[in-house]
Amino acid sequence: MKLTIIGGGIVGCVFALALSYFSDNQINIDLIDINDPETQHNKKFFHDRTLAISHYTYYMLKNIKIWKHLKKYVTKISSIEVSNQMNFNKIKISANDFLLPFLGHTISSKIMRSELFKLLKIKSNIYLHCPAKPIKIIRKQNKNIIILNNGNQIISNLTVIADGMHTNIAKQFNITYKQYSYKQIAMSSKICTTLSHNHCAFEKFLLSGSLAILPLELNVNALIWCFPENNLNSILSWNKNQLSKEIQNIFGFHLGSLFVIGKQQYIRLNLKVAEQRISHRLVLIGNSAQIIHPIAGQGLNLGIRDAILLAKVLKSELAKSKDLGNYKILLKYQNIRKIDQLRTICITNFLINIFSNQIPYLVFIRNLGLYILNYFPFLTKKIIKNMFLNRNYYN
Ligand SMILES: Cc1cc2nc3c(=O)[nH]c(=O)nc-3n(C[C@H](O)[C@H](O)[C@H](O)COP(=O)(O)OP(=O)(O)OC[C@H]3O[C@@H](n4cnc5c(N)ncnc54)[C@H](O)[C@@H]3O)c2cc1C
Repeated sequence: MKLTIIGGGIVGCVFALALSYFSDNQINIDLIDINDPETQHNKKFFHDRTLAISHYTYYMLKNIKIWKHLKKYVTKISSIEVSNQMNFNKIKISANDFLLPFLGHTISSKIMRSELFKLLKIKSNIYLHCPAKPIKIIRKQNKNIIILNNGNQIISNLTVIADGMHTNIAKQFNITYKQYSYKQIAMSSKICTTLSHNHCAFEKFLLSGSLAILPLELNVNALIWCFPENNLNSILSWNKNQLSKEIQNIFGFHLGSLFVIGKQQYIRLNLKVAEQRISHRLVLIGNSAQIIHPIAGQGLNLGIRDAILLAKVLKSELAKSKDLGNYKILLKYQNIRKIDQLRTICITNFLINIFSNQIPYLVFIRNLGLYILNYFPFLTKKIIKNMFLNRNYYN
């Protein structure tokens, strides 16, 4: 039984490891990536960024014995402070409210991917083809034949597409996407602050976007600033002093004085959702299946749920069908994932629309919303629970 994964980003790697774990290394897996994890040279396909990993993702990675290899690289998030630009109602949620040791963690995507590759390399059932890319995929009734640019040929029963946001593979098979531009840019960078973050993450909703500050080392934090795309040229012309001043104006002095350090990455923000995530002997997972706004830091968390659920479905159906690419199995996976995907997209879009909107009645609703959340903590808990602790999607 053979399976091929195209794309060894974090989602592709987690899927390979999860499937090996659930199937006791019984399934042979070929993993192809254009980017060698040692060099990660192809910047078009791989950006190093700080990722917030939810408590639930931690729980899933711990279950499949991956977490212990990552834990020395993570910073815990003990509390989250949510505020908006227009009023003074702030909401602070702490892990203690849920009787948990933490709400989530942050980690560098580059480190996480490198550590996952180290684990892949020691698995006898996993064959890595990096750097390489498919130049032709031929689908037959009972197998796929993948021809690589290095001349190698791979035959498998199922191809899992995890090639991320630039997904071209899926388009070759007439998989269509619904796409919507947020007309925003996300800038990610790091800041150093005079006060320690104390493991608190900050999310500030702005009329024109959002600002997230995530804890890293003692006085260093990750910064994700989403702003209208029309402002890009003027922001690009600022030097670090001007940029730091602007971020300080927006964020205030919660962490004392701040200064932007390191490089800035800019990315145009779109919602992109595959209209079908399966086809004959093909499945899409992670960013190949959906790209969402980073406002709530949910994209990777959703992709990891795709990966682990697909591994679980394949494992549980395998005993009955003996064919990994059986369409009924793929259909089962697609149906299971629909609700989680829709729910995550809806919550994310709700946050963007309600907080970044200047239509008078929506401003009123937004302020009322924050007010209610402030005075009815159980509602706040419910939303956070949905975003970070959604265990019900595991089974
Ligand atoms: C600014 C910003 C901040 C974010 N913050 C968070 C956060 O805090 N928490 C969170 O959960 N999510 C966050 N996200 C989302 C998260 O980064 C993505 O959802 C996640 O990285 C997607 O992983 P992936 O493995 O699906 O895709 P990718 O990381 O894009 O990996 C795709 C892989 O496929 C390979 N590839 C591409 N084409 C080919 C090909 N033709 N052949 C072979 N290989 C190929 C690439 O080299 C790459 O390794 C953020 C996104 C942005 C833009």
